[in-house]
Amino acid sequence: MRLGILKEAAPGETRVALLPDSVKALVAQGLEVYVEQGAGLLAGVADEAYAVAGATLTSDRTALLGSADLLPVVNAPDETSQRLLKSGAVVAGFLRPLDDPAVLLPAIERGVTLFAMELVPRISRAQAMDALSSMATIAGYKAAVLAASSLPKLFPLLMTAAGTVPPAKVFVIGAGVAGLQAIATARRLGAVVEAYDVRAAAGEQVRSLGAKFLDVDLGGIDTEDKGGYAKELSEEALNRGRDLIAKTCGYSDVVITTAQVPGRRAPLLIRRDAVENMRPGSVVFDLAAPAGGNCELTQPGETIQVNGVSIYAPLNLPVTVPVHASQLYSRNVSNFLQLIVKNAAVTLNFEDEILSGSCVAHEGKIVNSRVASALNLTTSP
Ligand code: NAD
Repeated sequence: MRLGILKEAAPGETRVALLPDSVKALVAQGLEVYVEQGAGLLAGVADEAYAVAGATLTSDRTALLGSADLLPVVNAPDETSQRLLKSGAVVAGFLRPLDDPAVLLPAIERGVTLFAMELVPRISRAQAMDALSSMATIAGYKAAVLAASSLPKLFPLLMTAAGTVPPAKVFVIGAGVAGLQAIATARRLGAVVEAYDVRAAAGEQVRSLGAKFLDVDLGGIDTEDKGGYAKELSEEALNRGRDLIAKTCGYSDVVITTAQVPGRRAPLLIRRDAVENMRPGSVVFDLAAPAGGNCELTQPGETIQVNGVSIYAPLNLPVTVPVHASQLYSRNVSNFLQLIVKNAAVTLNFEDEILSGSCVAHEGKIVNSRVASALNLTTSP
């Protein structure tokens, strides 16, 4: 059975799906691994390292696409590449099945089985496959570091002969995976950190990192779903949060905002007046930008200035840390592949909730109802 690793073609992409240590383990399991030349270069991996791990390097992308039985990827291959895929091949990666499902139709029509890493259920057994958490960890770290470098102030308290420099005040909204990593990083850099989340459970985690948790009385409503994710809130509950956020923004130097509700537009939490209350030179990092953003003024993918406040809205911070983003992703994907590679062949056991939960399409049919409804279709029986 042949596994292929592509040089990712999406604009701005720097990561690679599998690193040589994962390749070595798959070769030892009896797989033939083919790697497109230059696949790992931007992630710090030379072609030679793949060869040493037992892979065959190729410059023939078309042949690789047409012969691979298994294709771990970072992003969905483009339309032309999808049309070259072998019928019955398996592709696994960040396929954005709920954001942009139509992009996957050429592969679905070719009978390719698609697994979306975004849809891997967040159960304990799948923790080692949780690529969303891996990327959120990197994004949270990088946002704090970028905020520190773009702020016209220092983060730590400094007591010098020339006087005392007070620590920067950082406010983190949304204390999930990315938010907690942003808190930890800002604390390590010496900032004083406050955080807000609608999930009460986040409070303990925030405090354990040495930050202050801001409680809002939301009237005792249930803010969490069965999976531990935040629920979409009513306008009234959102407004209570927005008032506290506006007040806190007024004295914060940096606001890192990460609030998301799965499958929905990101909640609008930072109103225009909250930004207008901030001091010139302050910085907002809106990590919810790919889902529309938490700040009313956010322009996804752009950096704008409003009254001297910079609003950053990066769409993909993990690509700015390709070595470690690839390392974590490679481990997540290879752990996932272990569920489907048995005796050097693909075996798909859809009784396994990790496989059934993450499968988008199989044998030409869309098998995920959320993806089908995003395409205005119903799942095939
Ligand atoms: P996410 O990216 O969907 O959201 C980020 C944060 O925004 C969440 O903490 C959420 O509560 C918060 N949020 C949503 N609406 C908000 C609002 N109106 N105001 C303020 N905050 C708001 O979430 P995530 O970071 O992927 O993870 C969220 C939860 O899932 C956490 O409980 C996390 O511990 C849990 N989780 C579990 C596993 C696992 O068990 N394998 C893995 C990852 C995450």
